[in-house]
Amino acid sequence: MQPVDSSSIIKRLRWQRTEAGAMNFRGHLICGALVGVGMAEGAVHFAYAERGDYATWGALFATTTFFSLFPDLDTASVPQRWFFRCVFALLLYLGWHEQYDLATLVAILSLLPLLDHHRGWTHWKISPLVVSVLLGAAYEYWRARHAFLGDFSWENVHGLIRGHVIYLLACIVGWYTHLVLDGRFRIFPTERGHH
Ligand SMILES: [Zn+2]
Repeated sequence: MQPVDSSSIIKRLRWQRTEAGAMNFRGHLICGALVGVGMAEGAVHFAYAERGDYATWGALFATTTFFSLFPDLDTASVPQRWFFRCVFALLLYLGWHEQYDLATLVAILSLLPLLDHHRGWTHWKISPLVVSVLLGAAYEYWRARHAFLGDFSWENVHGLIRGHVIYLLACIVGWYTHLVLDGRFRIFPTERGHH
């Protein structure tokens, strides 16, 4: 009978884990992008965006993909570095175009994952809903206060929310895509500690 070589098993497990970790980001990116396309197409289908409105299409696609990667930005990695390079560029762009409200939102959002350890609150099942709705509500409130200083009316607020609610949805869908792929909902069985 051959003795079990436990060290080689451990080595193999370790190898699988790093391999899975590397695959995982790519998996998140690919799935997030696919869901992003679906999200943008869905928005066109349900008349939240017009066919040929590429700016809205692209923004919805980007929002969904962004949030499908967002939860894993709580750990130091190459994707994280690239993410912050993009955030840096985005903040420069928004500042240049004097879109300070959006810039504030992006800055707050991109710091959020760093407030906790890896797979902390960003991976809770309830976070996508609570955080998106809270931030969305704060943003809408802020916008409504600034946009209609003279003639505040609830109709305006409704119009504003209708224009933005699709982004809120994109954010929630993208974030849950990540959690599902991480096996938080046990739709796909995945190994523990895979990334
Ligand atoms: Zn994750």
